[in-house]
Amino acid sequence: MSATPIKGKPLADRLRAEVAEEVKTLGRVGLVTVLVGDDPASEVYIRLKHKAATAAGIDATDVRLPADTTEADLLARVSELNGSDDVDAILVQLPLPSQIDEEKVIRAVAPAKDVDGFHPLNAGELYLGRPAIVSATPRGIMALLAEHRIELDGARAVVIGRSDIVGKPIAHLLLQANATVTLCHSHTQDLARHTLDADVLVVAVGVPALVTADMVKERAVVVDVGMNRTDAGLVGDVDPAAAELASAMTPVPGGVGPMTIACLLQNAVVCARYRTGALVYPG
Ligand code: NAP
Repeated sequence: MSATPIKGKPLADRLRAEVAEEVKTLGRVGLVTVLVGDDPASEVYIRLKHKAATAAGIDATDVRLPADTTEADLLARVSELNGSDDVDAILVQLPLPSQIDEEKVIRAVAPAKDVDGFHPLNAGELYLGRPAIVSATPRGIMALLAEHRIELDGARAVVIGRSDIVGKPIAHLLLQANATVTLCHSHTQDLARHTLDADVLVVAVGVPALVTADMVKERAVVVDVGMNRTDAGLVGDVDPAAAELASAMTPVPGGVGPMTIACLLQNAVVCARYRTGALVYPG
């Protein structure tokens, strides 16, 4: 039997339509993206984010800075955006050129305008179980699991990958949903021993087919976050043959990907509510 595909687009389309309605109610939502340099992959991401934001009625400004921008200049720009009442949400596209300390820039964005949810205060609120702004991909995964009524309470969830952007936040969100969570990474011994125990398996690594069908428990729910560009096109971290065992599985492309952008737009609305005082930022 083949797994039910957990497709991202139908839910993402619905969320984007909801965001458009909320933007109308709020009057205006201002998002500023900052791209330093001309990394082709980053250019594509920025273009996609702008297209989606504009379609939802968000006032999106595309700031482009040269590749040799100094850290001080970027920090000054971020500080200006932090202080502007026209700006609800700020996104600094990563990675940044090597002369700039990413950590410093992440910390410089005002936490209530941090649409990516990467600031330590936003990460900290999540880890304490009081999520404020949560990064878009993990939020999208949780929304997809809820939409497909995947039982998380008491489930054994295994996450592979411990990045600040996906692995760690999704592990915390699963924990808050009362799953029993195991977080695996590149030092994990005998990965299959863990994955074969998973009722819900989330894979966010960036290695094509790292998880093979024999590593998946029968009837498990598999979320493949991986986006790997190969000669065969865009592939995930899970061998598609795992769908023969899983009860439900996200396809790549068309699973988690569309949810990321939809949730980013939702975050922009959350930021606008913080700025106008409709929501109070924790602390
Ligand atoms: P990342 O920062 O490179 O982190 C990768 C993680 O995988 C690390 O924690 C690493 O462990 C772990 N890892 C590497 N090799 C491993 C192995 N052989 N066994 C077990 N764990 C291993 O990546 P990321 O930003 O989280 O992204 C992961 C993937 O998701 C990428 O393909 C990315 O393109 C994709 N992604 C997709 C979306 C979307 O919207 N669909 C959004 C974000 C990311 P260590 O910590 O020990 O090094």
